[in-house]
Amino acid sequence: MDILLSMIEARDFVRKIRPYKPGKPIEEVIRELNLKGEIIKLASNENPLGTSPLALRAMKEALNESFLYPDDNCFYLRRKLAERTNFKQENTIVGNGSVEILPLITLAYLGPGHSAIVSKGSFIWYKIAVKIAAGELIEVPQKNYAHDLKAMLDAVKSNTKLIFIDNPINPTGTMVTKDEIDKFLKQIPENILVILDEAYYEYINHPDYPDSSKYLYEGKNIVILRTFSKIYGLAGARLGYGFANSEIISNLMKLRISFNVNRISQHAGLAALDDYEHVENGRKINEAGKEFLYDAYEKLGLFYVPTYGNFVFVDFNKDSLTVFESLQRHGIIARTIKEYGFPNALRITIGTEKQNRKLIKTLKKIL
Ligand SMILES: *Cc1c(COP(=O)(O)O)cnc(C)c1O
Repeated sequence: MDILLSMIEARDFVRKIRPYKPGKPIEEVIRELNLKGEIIKLASNENPLGTSPLALRAMKEALNESFLYPDDNCFYLRRKLAERTNFKQENTIVGNGSVEILPLITLAYLGPGHSAIVSKGSFIWYKIAVKIAAGELIEVPQKNYAHDLKAMLDAVKSNTKLIFIDNPINPTGTMVTKDEIDKFLKQIPENILVILDEAYYEYINHPDYPDSSKYLYEGKNIVILRTFSKIYGLAGARLGYGFANSEIISNLMKLRISFNVNRISQHAGLAALDDYEHVENGRKINEAGKEFLYDAYEKLGLFYVPTYGNFVFVDFNKDSLTVFESLQRHGIIARTIKEYGFPNALRITIGTEKQNRKLIKTLKKIL
């Protein structure tokens, strides 16, 4: 039996929110397709090596204390994160995933009558966060699959409060360089807050990648976002963090729901930060996978965008949904990115060597 719809209407801004569609969970694909055997998930840019072993051990130990509320302030984790970057605890916020921090930012700094700028075809959650605060969304087209910072600057209006920059972009994987960001931040009006989302920070080892902490020391209006979901292998623990000046952080902290980061995840984060080996292994396997996949995509005649993350944007030159579905029938979950404006492409996470080989073998079969 269905419960009858009521006459209670949601507020206008709620109706305008299009829910986020995450990469498909393995369980869902098994259920829908009645698949047997191994399923490979290359849909959400998780670390194919799995959870950081040090974090895993810490979580198991912390389970015993599940009856206790967590530390609402995340004292130890914030302190450790701050120490690693030479910031202070007051410059650091921890969230239930870094995504949780996005609506805190929009609620604090954006409202009806204000606008926010995003790149068309960058991380969808920025748009949702803007709509949650009932703000106006300004979408600026990308140039060559990259942020067009000049166009984003030109799009600034007198009511613009926020600009979101994922570096690298999810889903295209391109990076904006230090020089580009330097120039951009110099020209940005002082009343605008720039969000630099560095979810793939640990994967990048490139001299042109901006050292965003420098901008914070210089007093620029930025929020830096990073996460434990990617290289640390803790996507399921929901743990992300941000750095900003202490005034911004204290405002964001006020908008959190109490105990937003659970006890087990706080312990996971503390341990993961010491797991240099897991991070190094993640990086190595990603670099090796990248080279293998680039070569394979080239041989298959597929256009791809060189990536600075742990995923590759691959264009199939036709509606990619059919490729997505065929891959799924073979037990491989990729990510459609039609809602990002790329109906012909898939975003495919770089897996282990074995997973990458299976992916390419399967693509050869189905294309
Ligand atoms: C994966 C990703 C995140 C991480 O979100 P969490 O909530 O920390 O899991 C944030 N931003 C971008 C651009 C991402 O690709």
